[in-house]
Amino acid sequence: MHAEVIAIGSELTSGANLDTNSQWLSVELGQIGIPVRFHTTVADDLDAIVDVLRTSVARSDVVLITGGLGPTQDDLTRDALAALAGRKLVLHQPSLDHIRRLFAQRGRPMPERNRVQALFPEGSEPLPNPVGTAPGIWMELSRDGADPCRLAALPGVPSEMRRMFHEQVRPRLPRGDQVILSAKLNCFGAGESAIEEMLGELTARGRQPDVGITAHEATIVLRITAQAATLEQCRRQIDQTKALIRERLGSLIFGEEDETLPEVVVSLLRTRNKTLATLEMGTDGLLTHWLAKADPQREHFVWAEIRRPFREEELRRFSVIQCYEKRCGVERKISEVDDRMSRFMKEELHRLRSHTEADLTLAVHLPRSKTAPSTSPDQPAHVVLVAKEIERAVEEPTAGNPAILVPRVVKAALNHLRLHLLAMTK
Ligand code: AMP
Ligand code: MG
Repeated sequence: MHAEVIAIGSELTSGANLDTNSQWLSVELGQIGIPVRFHTTVADDLDAIVDVLRTSVARSDVVLITGGLGPTQDDLTRDALAALAGRKLVLHQPSLDHIRRLFAQRGRPMPERNRVQALFPEGSEPLPNPVGTAPGIWMELSRDGADPCRLAALPGVPSEMRRMFHEQVRPRLPRGDQVILSAKLNCFGAGESAIEEMLGELTARGRQPDVGITAHEATIVLRITAQAATLEQCRRQIDQTKALIRERLGSLIFGEEDETLPEVVVSLLRTRNKTLATLEMGTDGLLTHWLAKADPQREHFVWAEIRRPFREEELRRFSVIQCYEKRCGVERKISEVDDRMSRFMKEELHRLRSHTEADLTLAVHLPRSKTAPSTSPDQPAHVVLVAKEIERAVEEPTAGNPAILVPRVVKAALNHLRLHLLAMTK
């Protein structure tokens, strides 16, 4: 048994809006054991919609449609369904009464156009919408040599769609013999391919459960997907695979599901009962923004300073040794140059520590060239951590995709802090 999800709306095909309904519905279908094979998005065009529906009904056992059930002329789902099935649209009086009642509750007369929302293809079943004016449509369409295709059309408004799926559609769907469940592990500190190598046979295609790797702004997400007879079995399989992955990746894993690095750092600050002050230069305040969001009451993130990065001519101040050595034609390590930068940042953090009395201080400096934020690879970013028990400076390379440089460097800074906090006893 396979399902297909169709999103209807020109605002989707034009790129103005993102189709999030298909994503949500596919996860839900997976959880009741109905895998989704196709997502189709189609504009508000009657012929195009009928065309898509014909193909979908022929190849999928379950077809879920969202959008196009509104009262306006571009809402064509009900007409398309009637055309597809070769049936008339007929009035469903209880639906019309419900729509009238909704308008009366809002103290407004019902516009005549809303009447179309009470029209249904003959032989279909109305799906009540407790929160909005657009009822859904349930149909079972017979097919030659196959079980009938079960089809549900739901309104596009995500909150209405979700509630109606749970209350009206899910109980009408057959259960698959296998349910599907996914879990996520989030990693930082190594590239996608390095992580794949460390995972070895765990990422082999066809393995049960399946382990997939995706990357987003230098965060590597491992998605574990299990298929089994019951959710309980899926959970057990997922837990076993998680344990194997944790053995291999250790502290590269920072969190699960939608947990972010700043959230994990704040929760570690909380369990360690520590406060943090930060200084960021050249990272657009992103470190501050992320930490502030993760600690809205500022219980642990007590102080933030945002400054512009050093300009190129100022950076040269830190590069005296490098310039001198190059002029003499002698190769010397850049790190010697950057020691000066680290020293400067450490001094700043000591100042911050005595000023704010924070337990931990973290600084990040990302140099900017004229074509900001991309910098030449020989100008690294600096991350410095100063606390009572530690003074640590590291360089972060700035080569790579400039579009994700700022979040990557900020995550690197947060990750250094996370690893330090992990090593501290509670
Ligand atoms: P409709 O049912 O086509 O009148 O859609 C009503 C509203 O729901 C649209 O204006 C969108 O804001 C939203 N919407 C429709 N389809 C989707 C979708 N596939 N994903 C997310 N939002 C949607
Ligand atoms: Mg629409």
